[in-house]
Amino acid sequence: MERIKVILKSGKEQSVRRFHPWIFSGAIKKMLGEPVEGDLVDVYDNKDAFLAVGHYAPSSIAIRILSFEQVTPDVSFFRKKIENAIAYRKLIGIIGNPMLTVYRLIHGEGDGLPGLIVDYYNGVVVLQMHSIGFYRIRKEIAAILVELMKDQITAIYDKSDGTIPHMAETKAVNEFLYGDSAPVVVTEYGYKFKIDWTTGQKTGFFIDQRENRKLLMEFTEGKKVLNMFGYTGGFSVYAMKNAALVHTVDSSFPAIELANENMKLNYGDDARHESFQVDAFDYLNHIKDQYDVIILDPPAFAKHHNVLANALQGYKRLNMKAIEQVKPGGIIFTFSCSQVVTKENFRKSVFAAAANTGRSVRIIHQISQPPDHPVNIYHPESEYLKGLVIYVE
Ligand code: SAH
Repeated sequence: MERIKVILKSGKEQSVRRFHPWIFSGAIKKMLGEPVEGDLVDVYDNKDAFLAVGHYAPSSIAIRILSFEQVTPDVSFFRKKIENAIAYRKLIGIIGNPMLTVYRLIHGEGDGLPGLIVDYYNGVVVLQMHSIGFYRIRKEIAAILVELMKDQITAIYDKSDGTIPHMAETKAVNEFLYGDSAPVVVTEYGYKFKIDWTTGQKTGFFIDQRENRKLLMEFTEGKKVLNMFGYTGGFSVYAMKNAALVHTVDSSFPAIELANENMKLNYGDDARHESFQVDAFDYLNHIKDQYDVIILDPPAFAKHHNVLANALQGYKRLNMKAIEQVKPGGIIFTFSCSQVVTKENFRKSVFAAAANTGRSVRIIHQISQPPDHPVNIYHPESEYLKGLVIYVE
């Protein structure tokens, strides 16, 4: 089928020539036809030179580029990309590691497949499409995964309801594309977590904090630990291995229930753990010198650039409270998962927070996302998770 040609405004080809995989709607000069959402389109510069082929969508990210070469992204094209994603994860020891039955199999732009997220939960694969282009070929993607991973997959669930563009006419339905499964228990470095992709946030678990959870244990031996925004209790479960006490805080009741369930799965009834369904900002007001270690892993405060300033204020306020309250000689693990907040901006917020308290603060680790969430060097936005471990005197 003939693909519709999209011509960019003069100058707007530069980011494409530097292999950035997104084209914003404002960069488009004209389209020679009317693409339907999710169509493959060819992108040309203002002088009629071919630039790329990608999926079109009626959203601010108008085109997600699949290739900078004049190729046809068909089933064999996607099979090759998915094969690469699997081979890479075998290379880094994520696939085939009995200690890890939970990992990200495809990380969108980071794996050259913009708009496609695939997480693996002990046999159950959860897809999350951020583009209609991928939503339209979800069955083909599922078939490729089954073909390539055969006996390692029992079910494939598509959870794109909340992630494809709002302006789209296509309305996604969450459903199994292959097999069927009740919630499963996964193993992460020997710790167990129950994953419920249907009710959970995102695809069910924050896989991206795996290495940071492991790092946390270096600081929790015999300590009093506070896990703010605890969700499934990921950090809490690791800390419980050696801490004196662990408190999990989340404003959502289902999250608290999940954290309690995961704690029980690993430790049975253990009085060292308690959880509280309260607002994090309120909780932090009344805990002066109660905790040695505090984890701050809030939801993304900024989803768009236009709320960036407010988000940075939010990070500052939150970190200020924690820095004020932590015991002398305390440790804080502080994170931002907002894609629009850069590493520099986040660090400045923590700096401003520290300066307001006047306490001595040292950065002892600068952390990010693990290698199954690779960062495409041409797409700095794929480095979305930023964290600092700070020591507060
Ligand atoms: N740290 C978690 C992920 C956190 S997701 C992990 O490693 O898995 C963010 C969590 O913050 C959600 O569970 C959400 O319910 C909770 N949350 C959002 N706003 C909150 C608030 N004001 N106070 C407390 N919890 C909040």
